[in-house]
Amino acid sequence: MFDRFGHDTDDPDDDFTAARERMVQTVSHRVADERALDALESVPRHEFVPIGRRGNAYADRPLPIGDGQTISAPHMVVIMADRLALEPGDEVLEIGTGCGYHAAVTAEIVGPEHVYTVEYSPALAESARETLAALGYGEVAVRTGDGRDGWAEHAPYDAAYFTCATPSIPEPVREQLRVGGTLLAPVGTSHQTLVEATKRADGSLARSEHGGVRFVQLRG
Ligand code: SAH
Repeated sequence: MFDRFGHDTDDPDDDFTAARERMVQTVSHRVADERALDALESVPRHEFVPIGRRGNAYADRPLPIGDGQTISAPHMVVIMADRLALEPGDEVLEIGTGCGYHAAVTAEIVGPEHVYTVEYSPALAESARETLAALGYGEVAVRTGDGRDGWAEHAPYDAAYFTCATPSIPEPVREQLRVGGTLLAPVGTSHQTLVEATKRADGSLARSEHGGVRFVQLRG
């Protein structure tokens, strides 16, 4: 059916758009960064989740994406972008591509050509590459491998973040961060804390803790 403006009222994309706007409203009180909220509003989360999960794509909660992994809840994605204070043109390293959703949100802020993401599972990496390319984020660079090695080729990074919990901050990732750069990671095993760390001139990390979180464990 078409309404009097000629819009197709049966178009499911309109429902997704409305649901996405409501989701952004729901999480908007959690962050101050308008850019992060705009990014959340721009990325079609339903395109990243398995088809059978699309109906729940705009609920503010994690969803299974296959291979025993989950896409983070939207509030966590926006809180992380806010905490990292991402700016256009920042070079960003992500550990844990998953379905590529979080990378797309980051790409909306910094530009897709500035996002480098590492995924352990070859199947998830390949599918994330395809989804990102289909949605206009094809310049996001996806590497299959162990994120504990970071991605030395494109270092130094202004920011780096983990979307899986790590027992400690891996040395290569600290090394690949520029001085003054910020790192964000769920640190721990059964109990995890969101740790923010800024790299000092002497190479050490100044850490602060930001509450308990629950992410899937780093593999390998
Ligand atoms: N940011 C993702 C969330 C994915 S869940 C999204 O938006 O969908 C965490 C991801 O980290 C999983 O895909 C998992 O396979 C990946 N992962 C786990 N251990 C890893 C490692 N050592 N190196 C790289 N990725 C890893």
